[in-house]
Amino acid sequence: QVRVRFAPSPTGPLHIGGVRTALFNYLFAKKNNGVFFLRIEDTDQNRFVPGAEEYIMEALEWLGIAPDETIGKNEKFGPYRQSERKDLYQQYAAELINSGNAYYAFDTPEALDAARKLEEEQGKTFIYNHTNREKLDTSLVISAEETTKRIAAGEHYVIRFKTPINETLHLHDIIRGDVKFETNLLDDKVLFKSDGMPTYHLANIVDDHLMETSHVIRGEEWLPSMPLHVLLYRAFGWDAPEFAHLPLIMKPVGNGKLSKRDGDKMGFPVFPLDWKTAEGISSGYREKGFFPEAVINFLALLGWNDGTDKELFSLEELVAAFDLNRVHKSGAKFDPEKNKWFNHQYLIKQEDATLAKAYAPILAEKGFSIDESVLTKVVSLIKERAHFVSEFWEMSDFFFVAPTAYDEKASKNWKEETPALMQELISVVEEITDFTSMNIETIVKDWMTKNEIGMGKVMQPFRLSLVGALKGPHLFDIVEVIGKDETINRIQKAIA
Ligand code: GLU
Repeated sequence: QVRVRFAPSPTGPLHIGGVRTALFNYLFAKKNNGVFFLRIEDTDQNRFVPGAEEYIMEALEWLGIAPDETIGKNEKFGPYRQSERKDLYQQYAAELINSGNAYYAFDTPEALDAARKLEEEQGKTFIYNHTNREKLDTSLVISAEETTKRIAAGEHYVIRFKTPINETLHLHDIIRGDVKFETNLLDDKVLFKSDGMPTYHLANIVDDHLMETSHVIRGEEWLPSMPLHVLLYRAFGWDAPEFAHLPLIMKPVGNGKLSKRDGDKMGFPVFPLDWKTAEGISSGYREKGFFPEAVINFLALLGWNDGTDKELFSLEELVAAFDLNRVHKSGAKFDPEKNKWFNHQYLIKQEDATLAKAYAPILAEKGFSIDESVLTKVVSLIKERAHFVSEFWEMSDFFFVAPTAYDEKASKNWKEETPALMQELISVVEEITDFTSMNIETIVKDWMTKNEIGMGKVMQPFRLSLVGALKGPHLFDIVEVIGKDETINRIQKAIA
């Protein structure tokens, strides 16, 4: 059975790159009728941030990709929070010691520095492995007896993995294909610390084994850890899961990985939801007015496509089309402008009545209580050009309030003969009984044709009178919505 996991560390809000990892795991699980589970990797107590775990859960819920198993939900292989599995890791660390795959190290930072210097003096980079320790500083390597004594005396220690030497590892990654690693270039990573906590590497491998993870799908930044992880599985005598490392998400401009700072600098969110700290708020997609479907859609295309030009995918369509073999190796450029386009696509798909409901509270805040049918009509007229519901007011304020100023540039169309023409227009409008857009348009245009009045001479001042600027939807639609009296009032005000 396919079992995949999203395994964030609660060190802060979930970055959009993390969400993409969660999404690809979700899609792969659903595509293969498998299980998508969420495990919280909180063994690094120094980096623990309160609220981050809740934030991660809430973000996945909002996006509609909640896990099948996690803390408090189908805890088949629980607990799903690593800090609650502490005792387990200790036992597995001991197992590696006993099998000779790990060792206790009491190295002080000074001893490590000295060893590092020694190598650097010879123009080499220091690789911390058992062989080098023996070679560089024999005092670092101590007998089993001495080890027991020093632990009993409460000395600070770590347990390190004993990397095999002189081996070339030929590994396979679903996205990257065959990858090669030389074990002699690997450091002996710390697996366990004397504070009783495992490091990420040990906890991650033990849990992926115990939770029966079939595929590890994660960001490219973890690719360098792959050889250690594979070696750990081997040391335990376990089958390793398959690996797939997703491409980096790159800055919109220039080179390099997308960072939180890029978003803050360029004014786009890098988090799914707002994240509030004492320093302020980092904005999230939800609060910016993005639809979760739009966020899912643009994230899916960061490093994947279905082989065609198709860009719009619902979550169900993504599940059906998703294929890890079609994930690219090269970094995927993050495009905030394109993300807005995606939101627009989802906005125009919404029912007008639904959008009207979303708009109503914005209007209420401004003191307007607008009839639902009118609001639905207004929304239908403006939504084609909107990216967000939050833009509606700016795009439609003239439906609810008469202009108090007239766009200066546009006022150039206001000529000497304009007031007289507008006065005539008022008489024409006054006579209309069937006050619907099409009918108003026909009558006004007939009047213009009959009197040989140029279109621009009437239409632009007309729009300026009603809207205050040369913007907005079809003019006669506006006229219908605001009604006869208001139309006449506004023209009168403009020529006064
Ligand atoms: N806890 C790691 C992280 O924060 C998990 C990496 C992995 O998926 O193995 O991303």
